[in-house]
Amino acid sequence: MKTKQQISHILQEIARMYPDIRTELRYETPFQFLIAVILSAQTTDRQVNKTTPPLFARVREAEDIMKLSLPELEKMVSSVNFYRNKAKFISQSGEKLVREFGGIIPNDLKSIQSLPWVGVKTAKVVLGVLYDAPYVGVDTHVHRVMNRIGIVKTKTPEETDKILEKKLTREQKMIIHHPLVLFGRYHCTARKPKCSICPIREMCDFGSKRLISERKSV
Ligand code: SF4
Repeated sequence: MKTKQQISHILQEIARMYPDIRTELRYETPFQFLIAVILSAQTTDRQVNKTTPPLFARVREAEDIMKLSLPELEKMVSSVNFYRNKAKFISQSGEKLVREFGGIIPNDLKSIQSLPWVGVKTAKVVLGVLYDAPYVGVDTHVHRVMNRIGIVKTKTPEETDKILEKKLTREQKMIIHHPLVLFGRYHCTARKPKCSICPIREMCDFGSKRLISERKSV
């Protein structure tokens, strides 16, 4: 397991690799961001960004979704996976936001998780991006990276989320959320992690083991 000092150093290095990046999803209003996050489950951000412009031309705020019928909405998002369910959740979320929150995305975990389909990861991503809240949204990338490095030893993203919640400081969560997702998506990838050019290799359990075996084979 890593010391607090090592964790701090590792997170700073990762943050340095992706400065000033909040999200790759394109949106203009908070409700549009919620829609984009819902659409992005099991779908790439690139595909979501291709899908949303015609929808966002008609839907800016939560109340706008009520002017679209479900079949219309389904048609507009039909290029993403599980579009029928996602259209239903978007529609229900918009209605609930208007009915219970004055059309505003709530700024606390419990309220935002009361929206249809919004689980802890989605809630943390939305709060992190929209309100700069100190949360790390643990997706499969973050879960994999944290385990490879050795900051956690867990079997599921849910377990990783619980441990990171306790282990990281508020400041660390604020600086690391967005860089960590991109680090997992583009650098420490599932199939071919870029260990040979990784700035934290010496401190990473997986990377340093690879390094030792590479040296032995020379
Ligand atoms: S050394 Fe390799 S496994 Fe470790 S964080 Fe870097 S890319 Fe990922």
